[in-house]
Amino acid sequence: MKIMKFGGTSVGRPERMHQVKDLITRGDEPKIVVLSALSGTTNSLVGIGEALAAADRSLAKLRIEELHSHYLAFYPELLKTTEARAKAEAIIQEHFEFLNILLKISFNEAINRDILAQGELLSTKLFQTLLEELNIPSVFLVALDFMSIDENSEPELSKISEKLTAILALHPGEKIFVTQGYICKNHRNEVDNLKRGGSDYTASLIAAAIQASACEIWTDIDGMHNNDPRVVDRTRPIAEMSFDEAAELAYFGAKILHPASIWPAQQFNVPVKLLNTMEPEAHGTLIKEKVETTGVKAIAAKDGITAIKIKSTRMLLAYGFLRKVFEIFEKYKTPIDMITTSEVAVSVTIDDLSHLSQILEELNQFGTVEVDQNQTIICIVGNLVSETKGVLKSVMDALLPYPVRMVSYGGSRHNVSVLLDSTYKKAALQSLNEGVFKW
Ligand code: ASP
Ligand code: MG
Repeated sequence: MKIMKFGGTSVGRPERMHQVKDLITRGDEPKIVVLSALSGTTNSLVGIGEALAAADRSLAKLRIEELHSHYLAFYPELLKTTEARAKAEAIIQEHFEFLNILLKISFNEAINRDILAQGELLSTKLFQTLLEELNIPSVFLVALDFMSIDENSEPELSKISEKLTAILALHPGEKIFVTQGYICKNHRNEVDNLKRGGSDYTASLIAAAIQASACEIWTDIDGMHNNDPRVVDRTRPIAEMSFDEAAELAYFGAKILHPASIWPAQQFNVPVKLLNTMEPEAHGTLIKEKVETTGVKAIAAKDGITAIKIKSTRMLLAYGFLRKVFEIFEKYKTPIDMITTSEVAVSVTIDDLSHLSQILEELNQFGTVEVDQNQTIICIVGNLVSETKGVLKSVMDALLPYPVRMVSYGGSRHNVSVLLDSTYKKAALQSLNEGVFKW
C-alpha cells in the first residue's frame, strides 16, 4: 500500500482533478489518496473566520458567498452526468449551509476550526463523486475517524495506526481509498487541524501508521531544489536526499514540504517521493534513510530571524550560565534555532517574537543584551557536509563580500548555518549557488 498526497494546486481546477484521477488509477498497488483543499479555499476559510472573529458578519457572509460561487462554477466542469452533478450540488449545498449556520451562532475557536475543515471535506467529496461517475471503485475515508492529536497538538501515531488499520480491514481487496489531509480530532474530540500546509503531515503520518511502501507528495514543482528558485537563478531539483538532509531543509524554508512531515516517515523508514503532477514522469526527489552522496546538496534560507546576544563576564569559567539563559526562552515557549558561544557571550536566534520584550527584560539581569532584527539564516545542507574537505572554505569564500553575523558548524554532520542581515540574502544565496556546488 502506498500513500499519494495531492496539494491544493493539483486539485484546484477541474482538469487537474482529472489528472489526479489518471495518476491514482495507474499501477496495481493499493493506495490511500490524501487531498488538500482546492487552492485558495483554506485562505478563504481563514478569511471567513477572521471576519467572524471581528464580529463582521456581513463581511463573513460576503466571503462565504464568494467561495460558494467558486464551487458552483467548479463542479459542472468536473462532472458530466446529471446524476453526478446533482450529487456534487448537494455536497456543496450541505457545506455552505453549514457555513451559513455558523454565521448565526456565537463565534469561538472551536467553530473556527470547524470552518477550516470544510475545504478538505469538499475537495475529497467532489473527487469521490468524480471517481463514482467514472465507475472507478474507491472507498471514502473520513480522516476525523482516525487522525487525532493530543493535548499538546502532537499526533497520536499509535492510536492513528490502530484505528486506521481496523478501518482498512473492513475493505479487503479495495485498491483506492480517498481521505482528507490536514484535518483531525483533538483531545476534546473537537474538529482540529495539523496547521497550515498540514496535508503533507497527514500523508506522512498515514504512511507511518500503516508502514506504507512509499509516501508520494504530488505538487506543482519538480521536487526539492538545491536553492530557492524564487530568489536564485539556475537552481535544479535534487534527485536523492536522506531524511536528515530533508528535515534540515524543510524547516529552513524549503516550502515544498511541511517541516514536521519528515519524522513519521523517517521513524518507519518509508521513502518519501516529491513528484510533479504536471510532469508525472519526471524523477522528482526521493527522500530515504541513506544516500551515498556527500558534500553540499542544497541551500535554504529562512527570513524573519532575530538574533539576541547576551554578554556577561559572569559567563567566564562559569557553569550553569547557559541553562539559566535557556530557561527564559523555555518559560516563554520560544524555540531557539541557532546558537553560537564565546567565552563571555552567547548569541541565539529566534523567529517567534511574541514574547520578545519579556524575554529581553529577564535576560537583562545576566548582562548586556543586544538585539538584531531582520536577519536571515542560510542553511547549507548535505550528507557529511562537516566532514567533506573544503566545504567550509567554499562557503566562506562565497560569503566574503557580506558581513556574517553568526556561523554554526559541527552541530550536525549535515549542516552549516550562517546568519546575516536579510538585505544580503539574495546576493549571498546567488554567490553560494555559484561557489559551493560542484556542477
Ligand atoms: N489546506 C490546508 C492549507 O492550505 C492544508 C494543506 O493544503 O496542506 O494549509
Ligand atoms: Mg501544501
